[in-house]
Amino acid sequence: MPELETQTMTAAPEALIAKVKAYNPDVKAGEITAAYEYAKKMHEGQVRASGEPYYTHPLEVAQILAGMKMDTGTLITAILHDTLEDTAASYDDLKNKFGKDVADLVNGVSKLTRIESQTVEGKQAENFRKLLLAMSEDIRVLLVKLADRLHNMRTLDAIKKPEKRQRIALETLEIYVPLAERVGVHTIKTELEDLAFGVLNPEARESISNRLSFLRKEGSGVVETIINELAALLETSGIKAEITGREKTGYSIWKKMQRKNVAFEQLSDIMAFRIVVDSIEDCYTVLGLIHGRYHSIPGRFKDYISTPKPNGYRSIHTTVMGPARHRIEVQIRTHEQHSQAELGVAAHWAYKEGKVPSLKDVKKYRWLRELLEILEQEQRPEDFWENTKLELFQDHVFAFSPKGDLIELPSGATPVDFAYAIHSDIGDKCVGAKINGSIAPLNTKLSNGDQVEIITSKTQNPSPTWERFVVTGKARSHIRKFIRAQQRDEYATLGRAMLQKIFRQEHYDFTEKAVTGVLKQFQLEENDDLYARIGSGLTPARDVFKAIFPAHKTEMVKRPSRDMDQAVMVKPLDGRDAPVPIKGLIPGMAVHFARCCHPLPGDRIVGIVITGKGVSIHTIDCDTLETFADTPERWLDVSWGEGPDSPEAHVGRIHVIIQNEPGALGTLSTVIGANGGNITNLKLTNRSVDFWEILMDIYVNDTRHLNHIIAALRATPSVTSVDRARGGS
Ligand code: MN
Repeated sequence: MPELETQTMTAAPEALIAKVKAYNPDVKAGEITAAYEYAKKMHEGQVRASGEPYYTHPLEVAQILAGMKMDTGTLITAILHDTLEDTAASYDDLKNKFGKDVADLVNGVSKLTRIESQTVEGKQAENFRKLLLAMSEDIRVLLVKLADRLHNMRTLDAIKKPEKRQRIALETLEIYVPLAERVGVHTIKTELEDLAFGVLNPEARESISNRLSFLRKEGSGVVETIINELAALLETSGIKAEITGREKTGYSIWKKMQRKNVAFEQLSDIMAFRIVVDSIEDCYTVLGLIHGRYHSIPGRFKDYISTPKPNGYRSIHTTVMGPARHRIEVQIRTHEQHSQAELGVAAHWAYKEGKVPSLKDVKKYRWLRELLEILEQEQRPEDFWENTKLELFQDHVFAFSPKGDLIELPSGATPVDFAYAIHSDIGDKCVGAKINGSIAPLNTKLSNGDQVEIITSKTQNPSPTWERFVVTGKARSHIRKFIRAQQRDEYATLGRAMLQKIFRQEHYDFTEKAVTGVLKQFQLEENDDLYARIGSGLTPARDVFKAIFPAHKTEMVKRPSRDMDQAVMVKPLDGRDAPVPIKGLIPGMAVHFARCCHPLPGDRIVGIVITGKGVSIHTIDCDTLETFADTPERWLDVSWGEGPDSPEAHVGRIHVIIQNEPGALGTLSTVIGANGGNITNLKLTNRSVDFWEILMDIYVNDTRHLNHIIAALRATPSVTSVDRARGGS
């Protein structure tokens, strides 16, 4: 039976060991075989959806990781990755047989697998990715999980129900592809993307690949010709280089077609060329040669060698009018940079393993920490859909509600914070909590992935002691609000006495009726409300006295309210009367939007108190904020309010490069107008024979609207590049 034979072939560890030996001659084959025997025994009798014995899956996962030249510990983890979750194996068993390092790694993968079974909807995907990262204490855990997902995607056909296949493919695209991209594992990212694309949109994938093979025949030899011409060019300077040409992947072409809303025919740079050389110096020499020979397209040159991408990616990118007027993208990098680009953090082990076989000296958490730092600073201007930044999520904890909603909280958050995050009524009425099914004290600090159920009682009220352990502003403000209401009676008594005292000092008789007469001025309903304000210090007793006896009239000074939940209306930058609601401000303070960063709804914002000038609102990533890093007391936690927000209240600024040709400017403003934007200011910053650089201010509703306009402009032929601009005045 030939079929069975093939099965035994792939399911034996020899192929894996041979593959590892190729990059690590010192591999301890016995350890790998032992892990294999153990997994085979533990998974005995289990089968995959395809009917294959289950243990073939973990072995394939290990194969994928061996392809990334991972260390032996990771490979053994891959072989054992489902034993804790799906078999009778225990952590202690693994620890005794394979050591603590492996047992911890397998345990980490199992934690992710447990979380994986929670389905999350589209907009929660970002939170979910952050949760997976936050839980991958060792980055190798995440790499095993990605390889696991890749093998499951490769074998997705075995799953009968189309809905289930689609759900898994969508989840792959929304969660695992971005994760693979962020840790820089390009090979896994590309394959996952392509597999998911094939499940979600088989027709599109089919027609693109048909079209590609047609073009390949049509322009047969174009890639070849260009490679030869580039090789001849480099030969003149004696540089040793590997030149490869490729078409972009079907999915990346599809994305570009959607993003730019253009037909396949109009996509000019489907071809990309890669030149891999020995040294960084050679990279720049090659760049010089290419720019010397061909016209470069402005706005498409990126030097990621001098300024690496946040995920560590280094390479030079440029687009030129290449041979035969083909627009081609060229990437120039060294061999080391190339392997880093293809394997991302995994490349670290590939290099490590070659020199120092032991992993003992690798600080266990260094990679994760570096990764978190990278993600924290990540900016992806090329990200079209939204310019969401990853929040400082290592300061955050993610917990599930019983319904499966994923709630993001600051680290140190307790069930009370969780309750208020769901709904203020649930917070106010909470009496207890179950964490992962067991009753826990309300001040328990939540951990990533906890499932939290809040127990409420109609008779419960917020307790002042909660204030000592809650960490969220929402919980704190609600607790205080309640305490204030409770204290109101005390304050009312005090306030009444204070007012009576002034009456006495000024020799007037105190009457309730006199106070009632001025309630309207203070926009209050009852005398007690006014007394409470006086007693709590919100309204000076003397102001009330002056209101009652205008003969003593001096100007009413309105004291600031402490109610931070109330949105304050702030005038837009250009002084028009179209105020915007902002929460978290003290009413009465002067507020303005910073000119350095042009905040738009959708941006995360912060308020900075400037002595004598009030508060200025900046985007959280504005460079100006560095100036105030040492004065945290000036920072106000503010956010966009809801409510009356006039259209065109905001000004977004973009930086555009257009070709200098008749009608180009006209087209520009037509496209902006057609997409609901209204140009308020335009400045030519640079002007050459071929190109104009322009700064434009446009009235928009929010970041989404601005991104929409940017996308439309990018699809316009005479526009070379468009970006959101920061800085300047
Ligand atoms: Mn698995």
